[in-house]
This record gives sequence, C-alpha cells and structure tokens, in this order.
Amino acid sequence: MNQKMKGILSTILSFTLLLTGCSAPAANADSSKDKLNIVATTTMLADLVSSIGGERVTVNGLMGPGIDPHLYQASAGDVSLMQKADVVVYNGLHLEGKMGEIFESLSNQGSAVICIEKGLDESRLLAWEDDNSIHDPHIWFDVSLWKDAAKTVAKGLTDADPTGKADYDANLDAYLKKLDETDMYIRGRADELPEKQRVLVTAHDAFQYFGKAYGFEVRGLQGISTDAEAGTADVSDLANFIVERQIKAIFVESSVPPKTIEALQAAVKAKGFDVSIGGELYSDSLGDAQSGANTYILTVKANINTIVDALK
Ligand SMILES: [Zn+2]
Repeated sequence: MNQKMKGILSTILSFTLLLTGCSAPAANADSSKDKLNIVATTTMLADLVSSIGGERVTVNGLMGPGIDPHLYQASAGDVSLMQKADVVVYNGLHLEGKMGEIFESLSNQGSAVICIEKGLDESRLLAWEDDNSIHDPHIWFDVSLWKDAAKTVAKGLTDADPTGKADYDANLDAYLKKLDETDMYIRGRADELPEKQRVLVTAHDAFQYFGKAYGFEVRGLQGISTDAEAGTADVSDLANFIVERQIKAIFVESSVPPKTIEALQAAVKAKGFDVSIGGELYSDSLGDAQSGANTYILTVKANINTIVDALK
C-alpha cells in the first residue's frame, strides 16, 4: 500500500471514530499517518533505523531483546507486518537464517527492502568458519562496519522518502560522530589489557569482527550460527585451550542459553584449573529496557566493560 492510500485510509478511520463517538487522538493520528512505517528484524537494526529515521519514521522490531536471530522463525503476524510496511530492514549474510525466502518474496513483490549486507565492502567480510563462499554475519561488533550499515539505512530511507533527505543526512552525520566516539571508547578500554590477556571465549562465534577490530583472539564454543550444537570434543578442546593459556574468565551470551558455557567451566575445573564466568555479553540482540544497554551504543560499551573488567 502506498503512502497516499494509507493517508486516505487513516483519514477514513479517524472520521469513523469521530462518528462513533470515540475521542480519537486527532493530533497523534495526524502526526503518525505521514510517518514512514519501517519493520526491522533485529534489535540492533531497530535501534539504527530509529537513530537515522528520527521523527520521520515509526519502527517495529520483529525480534525482542534476548532473541536469537539465527533460529528465529517469522510468525504469520510478522509476515503480515512486513507486507504492510513501507520499508523492511534486515541484516542479511544469513543472520536471519530461517527468513531468507520471506525476504526473497518481499523483493519479488516489489516491496522496499534495505539489506545491510548489500552496503558492505566484501573485502572487509570474514569467512563463515572455513567456508569462504559465505560470510560471518556479526558485523555490528566492528563499529566501523556499523557506520557502513548506518549509511546504507540513510540511503534506503532517502530512496523511500526523498523529501526527508536533509533530515536523514543530518541524523546520519550526528550518529556517525557518536559511533566514532564509541569506537574510541572501546579502543581505550581494550588498551587496559596486556596483549596476552586479550582472549575472548564465548558461547558462540559472534565476536570475530570484534576481535579483528580491537585486537582480541576469539573462541566460540558453538560455531557462527547457534544452529549447530557444541559436541563434547569441542568442549574438551576449548577447555584445554583455557588451561594452557591460563584464561581468567569466559562469557555467557544474552541470546544463548548459559548451559554450554557452564559445561565448559565444569570441564576446565575437571582439568584442575578455575575459570570464572566473567558476565553476560550481548551478542545477537541488545539489552532490554531495564538493562541499561537498550541501544546499540550502550550495548557495545557494556560489552567492552564486562570483557575488560573480567579479564584484567
Ligand atoms: Zn550469532
């Protein structure tokens, strides 16, 4: 449905509400009917679209905090939301592993989509484990790649709503500055650790971009996707690595059940070494409203604080 049709429908709806005696909040209805209706898959993307779209957009995020995008199955309600949206924003690179066909059919139907993958320089992408033909989707942990994502969103919103160009450009500029400050903050905190202590062991392989950007060696118990479970051999290998390198702490993730990391901790203990659980990292979703980490910037800062404080 185009903007004009939505406007007409919204006017009819407001009129009907008036006739039936409901006190429709006319001012709100007026201000929302012109807004671009965006659906974003992950919490990271919903936050990014809000930051760039500002007052001109309303954003519906499909996945809440703590939801694992690798395993997420879209409901019939999600599909309907996406079909009605002015623009659908998704990460791509197989992050939303069970939703590929939906994005394809949205594109085929001529819906406006913004795919973050399309705006990334392929030479900067890391391989998906040993397979060079596909790439690791966890690009948001390198803030410089998230700047590219922000530019892709600004361009996509401008394409969908050309009259908003000046607003989107101004919001993008302001947000890129904040991302630069965030990047500096992460580097500053990482520098507090001697190089040999910069080893990050987590539940699944979400932090390779983080490791490359900020100088950490990264080991995930499960692979790039949480789709494949860790076997006992994986647990044993990683436990040996932790003992050999005398690693102080390992980390659970907010979107992965903690039992695999707890099993790893037990395996390390059985080898006569104590590794602590250094806290919970936000991997594939932002924190919730109570966490103090419910934006992208707060989340990546919370992560580096947790990591450095535990490994020091
Ligand atoms: Zn992941």
